[in-house]
Amino acid sequence: MTLKPPSDDPGTTPSFTGDTPLVNDVHPSPNHGDRKGRQPDAIILHHTAMVSGEAALLRLCDPAAEVSAHYLVWEDGRISQLVAEKHRAWHAGQSYWAGERDMNSVSIGIELVHPGPEGGSPPYEEAQIAATIALCLDIMRRRSIPAARVLGHCDIAPDRKDDPSAHFPWAQLAAAGVGLYVPPSPIVEGPRHQNGEHGQHIETLQSLLAILGYGLSITNLYGMKTEAVVRAFQRHYRPALIDGIADVSTIETLKALLAARSAADKPQKVSSHPPEKAEKAEKPAKPQTAVSAETLAPKGRWLN
Ligand SMILES: [Zn+2]
Repeated sequence: MTLKPPSDDPGTTPSFTGDTPLVNDVHPSPNHGDRKGRQPDAIILHHTAMVSGEAALLRLCDPAAEVSAHYLVWEDGRISQLVAEKHRAWHAGQSYWAGERDMNSVSIGIELVHPGPEGGSPPYEEAQIAATIALCLDIMRRRSIPAARVLGHCDIAPDRKDDPSAHFPWAQLAAAGVGLYVPPSPIVEGPRHQNGEHGQHIETLQSLLAILGYGLSITNLYGMKTEAVVRAFQRHYRPALIDGIADVSTIETLKALLAARSAADKPQKVSSHPPEKAEKAEKPAKPQTAVSAETLAPKGRWLN
């Protein structure tokens, strides 16, 4: 297929050479800025939620839209590059992860052509997922990005965004080494914690979510923000039920993820100090990748 440049940007944006041989074509988008000396250390996955890839490409290159991404992955597996990795593409918007409030400056954005929930949420094409995996592995290798720093837009903007949707095959990516993932804990009968509750157990839940990276205050009140973050967590890590309620399955999956991340970190990064108790600050917790979930929430203290 021949892709034309956007009609309102008649070739004035300088072209560039793709950052990887995986790129099939370059469509320069003017919608980018300076990383201000920051280096990308995360990959953010999106879906376009538009009727077609061509429509998405036009929008991502339209100066009036003021949005872009570094890469666009088509259903058939072709990869277009829109912004050079050295530049700051405008894909994340207001966002937060693990202490960072400017995710655009420290990430590489990848858009997958997909119509989203409004388009009936069809399964992603195998060729598209294979290309996304190859692209992520290429970027991770070149830039030493750990698997756990491959995230969805919904993770870094949980109260605004739901892409790349509950049907995104995170498990398939993880099997190839892309993203942090554990098999979701089964949904069982048991305590269910939700909006309106407060107490130490809610503070512990908020702490664990913040240690994973989510942006939420440790208030001990299960409010709208906590519900949005639980929903985002479920969308990514426990998609069988996305209801914003912290049930046993959600909490066990969260604890297993933190343990898996600690285990993955250990070869490079071993803390010689015992972990401090859970964050109590009224601000989002800093990432503490070496902290064990079991230490923070020993059996008996956890939500019950
Ligand atoms: Zn997005």
